Amino acid sequence: MRNLFSPLKDFVDLLYPSVCHNCGNWLVVGEKSICLHCINEIPLTGFHFQQGNPTAKLFWARVPVSYATSYMFFHETGIARKLLHQIKYKGGQDLAIDLGEMFAQELLQADPTFKPDLILPVPLHPRKLRQRGFNQSEAIATGMSKVLQTELNTDILVRQSNNKSQTKKGRFDRWSNVDGIFGLKNTNIPKSAHILLVDDVITTGATLEACVNALLKLGDIKMGIAGLAMAKS
Ligand SMILES: [Zn+2]
Repeated sequence: MRNLFSPLKDFVDLLYPSVCHNCGNWLVVGEKSICLHCINEIPLTGFHFQQGNPTAKLFWARVPVSYATSYMFFHETGIARKLLHQIKYKGGQDLAIDLGEMFAQELLQADPTFKPDLILPVPLHPRKLRQRGFNQSEAIATGMSKVLQTELNTDILVRQSNNKSQTKKGRFDRWSNVDGIFGLKNTNIPKSAHILLVDDVITTGATLEACVNALLKLGDIKMGIAGLAMAKS
């Protein structure tokens, strides 16, 4: 084990991501932001394209989506939580992109013909975007778009700016208040477009449901949902 002393590790991370985002060990040639050992520890869902998988079920009787899936299980303790924390609070944009690539490779393994026309990340609140410097869902979607060779689009689905009341509400109130916070900017999309909507963590599905409701105004589209992690609600 060659864990680096933490402040030094943070400094090295800033220069080049040469240590694993999960365990902190040095990465070897061929490893990107996570070491092979930690990749093997990721609790994969294997949900892809199974009708009635737990992610898909979340959206039943709520919004018309063709399929929905998640890459890994999110537990309160565990690697998925650590990785998402690294992405959000340690500037792990490279990690998010790499996980997006791994997720898309799994989707292609499950269905080699899988090919959405557009990949749309769930837009981040502008305040959080300023704090974080990047949208983690967009970074995940970037990795997915590279592997799937599909256009990443951040200009169709947008977060409406006027939702100040959100911050004053409690968690439960927010759940019912999420509808209407997303809107459409560019509506010029191909007819019958297959849109893949990407989020970081799926919990209740309320945010994605609100996104789908906004996107349905585009008319004739096919919708799919991919969450990097799925948490038990
Ligand atoms: Zn590791």
